[in-house]
Amino acid sequence: MLGLMQDWPLTVDKILDHAAEWHGGREIVSRSLEGPIVRTTYGAMHDRAKRISNALKAMGVKLGDRVATLAWNSGRHMEAWYGIMGIGAVCHTLNPRLFADQLCYIINHAEDKVLFTDLTFLPTLVERRAQMPSVEQVVVMTDRDHMGAAAALPGALCFETLVEEHSPDCVWGGFDEHTAAGICYTSGTTGNPKGVVYSHRSNFLHTLVTLQRDVMGLSLHDVALMVAPMFHANAWGLAFSCPAVGCKLVMPGQRLDGAAVLELIETEGVTFAGAVPTVWQMLLQEVRARKASFSTLKRVLIGGSAVPEALMRAFHDDYGVEVIHAWGMTETSPMGTLGVLTPEIAALPYEEQLPYRLKQGRTPMGVELKLVDDSGRRLPHDGETMGRLKVKGGFVAARYFKAEGGDILDADGFFDTGDMATIDAAGFMQITDRVKDVIKSGGEWISSIEIENLAVAHPKAMLAAVIGVAHPKWDERPLLLVKLREGESATRAEFLEFLEGKIARWWMPDDVVFVDEIPLGATGKIDKKLLRHRMEGYVLPTAQADGVK
Ligand code: ADP
Repeated sequence: MLGLMQDWPLTVDKILDHAAEWHGGREIVSRSLEGPIVRTTYGAMHDRAKRISNALKAMGVKLGDRVATLAWNSGRHMEAWYGIMGIGAVCHTLNPRLFADQLCYIINHAEDKVLFTDLTFLPTLVERRAQMPSVEQVVVMTDRDHMGAAAALPGALCFETLVEEHSPDCVWGGFDEHTAAGICYTSGTTGNPKGVVYSHRSNFLHTLVTLQRDVMGLSLHDVALMVAPMFHANAWGLAFSCPAVGCKLVMPGQRLDGAAVLELIETEGVTFAGAVPTVWQMLLQEVRARKASFSTLKRVLIGGSAVPEALMRAFHDDYGVEVIHAWGMTETSPMGTLGVLTPEIAALPYEEQLPYRLKQGRTPMGVELKLVDDSGRRLPHDGETMGRLKVKGGFVAARYFKAEGGDILDADGFFDTGDMATIDAAGFMQITDRVKDVIKSGGEWISSIEIENLAVAHPKAMLAAVIGVAHPKWDERPLLLVKLREGESATRAEFLEFLEGKIARWWMPDDVVFVDEIPLGATGKIDKKLLRHRMEGYVLPTAQADGVK
């Protein structure tokens, strides 16, 4: 027997329809690439996005065609998103931090038909245009006055001209909710980038889940600053959640530096913001330097990499801002877990809450988690046993675009995150490493991240990375690489003594090497693949013929 309720396909165009009808006057503020702060509303955005839909249709874009965007967070970028998705075309968000070769690879792999670009990326496009044979049209997201910059790109179209020339009469939706809405490629730290293909339904479900009070808990009364890029796992869903609740939305464009972000927070009255730790660190430096404070900011969501304790404390102790630590990945849309406290933990003094707040948190209804060993057996949730973290849910990837990487689910339908984690008795998950970075020493696992986090707290350290290096007896042993602060010098012994007593003896790095640079990948994380490559041929002192322990 089937239910007798209406069939109301969960397609994301309904989100902007709702915002336009019921929150039509609410503001959307962007720092434009041309310079000034520009303002629009959900009502105007809806109208303009429909004009873009008509422009795309006129270019021959049909259901299922891929349309790429190479752009910072802005109102125009959102108009392109909804314009693309509303007619069932697939919005492929390109990460501008990828190398040009990788960009060409994913554009060709996705067979993008149209490409929307910000002015910033014109030089790359001019240089590489010939290597994007599937791209029939390039749309520059600017007005006529600034189209001169696109002179070297023959045939490039102007976004504002398209908006002017096309009508807002366009029917959105009307297709199956399982239709693809977006593609985002993982940054490909192993092998080629792989495309995660979101559906309308998965984005809609993700939106509903993030809106739970114990998840992002956005409200109509919030002013949200969307720093997390739209090209990185859908800006953590904020480009959907904000119009869904109808709150004022603020976007920083290209300027993520402390001064620019602080200015937006203060002048626009931002109450909620989401960004990776490095952005927050830059912001705090600015606030401290100016001896300023936050007059409206209440909650910040931090994820993408672990939140350092100093950052968590600074927000709480110095500025009274609540930090919510979140974990997720491109394949999970991305929200997987959040460090929202339980009533029991919230009743503890802040110092006792802190270890929980620093973990990646608990999972909301809608995501299933499990912790398993190498043979797939479930491991206890005791906060100590480290295992592979697997996830399942309605907004978790089932396979990659064009089945790259083959079958990615286990027999129970769980996706292997590639993360190593523990889960404690209160349900808080903690990432301990990436499976490919964890160091296997004598059949046991050593967390490279834990050692790095301790080492980087050394006053002379700027950055620290730990990698596993081959060892004849133990298989692998940890090697600590340190980039010192400007003008500092240090010895191996200073760092080993600093770690003494903080980690188990058998976790102690076998050597410390000082380097000029620790490479960061396209999403700002340490590129350990490159580091391992650079350290190829390096032999640990403990591994030399006569020195085997
Ligand atoms: P990429 O693998 O391209 O960096 P993602 O953005 O999908 O792309 O990264 C997901 C990974 O980032 C996770 O699997 C995890 O290893 C790491 N990560 C995300 N959030 C956190 C966090 N709060 N703490 C620690 N690691 C995190």
